[in-house]
Amino acid sequence: MPSLRFKSINNLSNRTEKEVTVSAKITAIFNENVFTLKAAREFLSDEAYKSLLNSVKNGKRIDRAVANQISAGLRQWAEAKGVTHFTHWFQPLTGTAAEKHDSFFTLKSDGTPIEEFDGAALIQQEPDASSFPSGGLRATFEARGYTAWDPSSPVFIMEIDKGKTLCIPTIFVSYTGESLDYKAPLLKALAALDKSAVDVCHYFDKNVTRVSATLGWEQEYFVIDEGFFNARPDLVTSGRTVFGHSSAKGQQLEDHYFGSIPERVYAFMRDFEQESYKLGIPLRTRHNEVAPSQFECAPIYEEVSVGVDHNLLMMDIMERAARRHKLRILFHEKPFAGINGSGKHNNWSMSTDTGVNLLAPGRTPKTNLMFLTFFVNTIKAVHDYADILRASIASAGNDFRLGANEAPPAIISVFIGQYLTKVLGDVKERVGDKFDEQDEAILKLDLHKSIPELLLDNTDRNRTSPFAFTGNKFEFRAVGSSANCSNAMTVLNTIIAETLKEFKKDVDELIEKGEKKEIALMHVIREYIVSSEKILFEGDGYSEEWHHEAERRGLQNVRTAPLALDAMVTAKAKKLFEDNGVYTHSELEARHEIELEKYIKKVQIEARIMGEMATSNILPPSIKYQNTLIENIKGLKELGLPETAYANQKQILKKISEHIGKISDLVEKMIEARKVANAIGNTRTKAIAYTSQVKDPFFDSIRYHADKLELLVDDSEWALPKYREMLFLR
Ligand code: ADP
Ligand code: MG
Repeated sequence: MPSLRFKSINNLSNRTEKEVTVSAKITAIFNENVFTLKAAREFLSDEAYKSLLNSVKNGKRIDRAVANQISAGLRQWAEAKGVTHFTHWFQPLTGTAAEKHDSFFTLKSDGTPIEEFDGAALIQQEPDASSFPSGGLRATFEARGYTAWDPSSPVFIMEIDKGKTLCIPTIFVSYTGESLDYKAPLLKALAALDKSAVDVCHYFDKNVTRVSATLGWEQEYFVIDEGFFNARPDLVTSGRTVFGHSSAKGQQLEDHYFGSIPERVYAFMRDFEQESYKLGIPLRTRHNEVAPSQFECAPIYEEVSVGVDHNLLMMDIMERAARRHKLRILFHEKPFAGINGSGKHNNWSMSTDTGVNLLAPGRTPKTNLMFLTFFVNTIKAVHDYADILRASIASAGNDFRLGANEAPPAIISVFIGQYLTKVLGDVKERVGDKFDEQDEAILKLDLHKSIPELLLDNTDRNRTSPFAFTGNKFEFRAVGSSANCSNAMTVLNTIIAETLKEFKKDVDELIEKGEKKEIALMHVIREYIVSSEKILFEGDGYSEEWHHEAERRGLQNVRTAPLALDAMVTAKAKKLFEDNGVYTHSELEARHEIELEKYIKKVQIEARIMGEMATSNILPPSIKYQNTLIENIKGLKELGLPETAYANQKQILKKISEHIGKISDLVEKMIEARKVANAIGNTRTKAIAYTSQVKDPFFDSIRYHADKLELLVDDSEWALPKYREMLFLR
C-alpha cells in the first residue's frame, strides 16, 4: 500500500481550485449578517433602540423589560434570514471561541410548540462550562459560571453550510464575579484607558468625552494541502512539525513574497473574505508572506473589543474555509523549523470621540503637544511595564518564534525612527530643568509637515523591533499568530491607563505650584523621556550585539514562557491591575496558573508525539533500509568482492545505525524525564521542568538524528511528507 505521503502527492494533480462565487461589490454584502445599529433601527421600537444605542455608546445598562423588546426584534431579524438557533459566543481561556447552541424552538406548558427568544436568554446564560479552565477560581467560589451579553460588540449570524446561528457576544464570569474569559478584563482595561486618556485630553480639548483604543491586526498563517496535513501526526496533534529536514529550497530566494498567490489558495482567500464581509469584518489586505506557503490578511482597524472579536471569528472562518478547499490552515507560531514563523502584529492607537487619532503628529503647537504627550506616555508605559508586556505574549508556540528567523527578540524595546528620536532629543536638551517660556519654541515644530520623514523611517529595518511606531500608531509585533489579541491588548491598555494617570498627577502637581499648563506638560514629558530612554532602540533587533547592549542597559531577555509569566503575579502587577480595576489578585493568580497549565500541556503533547513518531514513523523505514544495506553488503561479500566494493554502503550503514541508536536512547530518556516532570506538584516548577528537563535537552537532539535519517533513508520508503512537499506543492 502506498503511503499517505505518496497518495497525497498523486492527489495533488487532481486538485483543482474550488469555484467561489463572490459578490461583485463588497458593499453589497458588508454587514449582511450583523445586527448593526441600522438593522436595530429597523427592527426595534424607539425605546429599545435608544436603550441599545446608549448601551453601545456609553456602556449603560439595559433593563429587563427593554431586553425583552430587543430580543424580540433580534429574533424577527434573525428568522427573516433563516436562523433557527442562538448561542452565547464567548472567549474562554482556552484561546478559541466557545458556543453552546439552543434553538428558538420550545414547548409551552400545554405542549404547543413555539419559537421563543426572551430578554433573559439574551442577557444571561449558564453554559455547562465546568471543563473550561478557571485556574481554580470556580472550585474556590462557585461551581458554575455564566455568560452575560456584551452589547459593545454586535450580534451576528454564523453560517455553517445551511445552518445559521444567531451569535451573541458575551463575557464569561463566575457567580462571584471573577472573569473566566479574555473579554471581561479587556473591557475593563479599555474602560480604564478611556477614563485616564479623557482626563489627559482635557489639557488640550475639553470637548473630548470618550477615548477608545483602536486595533488593526495583521494575521499571518501557513496553508498546506489537506493530504500532507493528514499524513503528519505532529501537525494534526500539535500544529507544528516536530521533525522534518529543511528543504533544499527554503525562503532564501524570497521569491514567494513577491510572487502571485497560488490559485487554490487564492480561491480559499476569496471564499473566507466573502464570509468575513458579511460578518462586518473589514478585511483590506491579502498577500504572500516571506516564507513559502505563508500568507497574511489584515482588516481596516476598529475599536479594540470589536477588533478582537473579529480576529477570533476570522480565524474560525478561515479554518472552516480551508477545509472546504481541501487545504489546512496553520496558525501555529512556528509550524516549520528554519523558515519564518507567524505573528499577529497588533497595530494600536487611541482615538477621541472628536475624531482625533492621539498618536498622529499634529499640525499646530497645541496638537503637537497632545501628540507628544500620548507618544511619550506610551514609551514610558512600555518601559515601566516591559516585563508584563512580555508576559502578555508568552506561550509555548511563541517561544519557538521569538528571537528566531525574522521574528522580534524576547527583549522588549521600542522603535520610533530617526526623526522622532531627534525630536525627543531636542525636547530633552532644550527643555531645561528650569523650563522657561522660551522653550515653548520647541512646540512650534511642525511635526505634521514631517510626516514624509516619519514614513521614510517606517522601513523594513524596523521589522526587527517588537514594538514600533509606524507614523500614526504603534505596532506590537511580538504577539503570536495563534493568540487571542485580548491578552496583549488588556495589558497594553492597562499600562497606558496607569501611566496616563500618573502623568496627570505629575502635571497637576506642577500646575498647582503655579506653573503654566504647557510648561508643566513639557516638563513632565521631558522627565518621562529621560526616565524611559533606555527602552528605545533603533538598530537591528536580530543582532547578537543587541543582546549584549540590552543586557548592559538592564533590559530583560526572558526566553521562555514559564519564566516570562512570573511578571503577571509580582506585587507590581497586582497593584497595576487592581488599581485599574482590571484583575483582582485571585484572578491574576488564576490566570497565571492557567497559562502555565496550557504551556505544560502543549509541551507534553509535543513530547508524546515526538516519542511516538520517532518509534513508529522514523525508525521503521530506517531499519528497513538498514536491512537492505546489510543484505547488499552480505551479498557483495559472498560474491568474494574486495572490501572496497561495499565500503560506501558500510559507511552509510554505520551512520544510519548510529542515528537509530541515538534516537532510541534519547526517546527512552525523554520519557523518563517526562515522568519526573509529571510528578511535580507545583505548576510553575513543573512548567519550568518541562522546559529545562524535557524540551531543551531532547527536542532538538532527537530531531537532529531523525532529520539526518530523512536524508539517508530511501525516499520511496519515507512515509512522512517532506518539507519541500508541504511547502511547495499545492
Ligand atoms: P503595514 O503594516 O503592512 O505597512 P499598514 O500600516 O497600512 O500596513 O496597516 C497595518 C494595520 O494597521 C491595518 O490593519 C490598519 O488598519 C492598521 N491601522 C492603521 N491606522 C491605525 C490606527 N490608528 N489604530 C490602529 N490600527 C491602525
Ligand atoms: Mg504592519
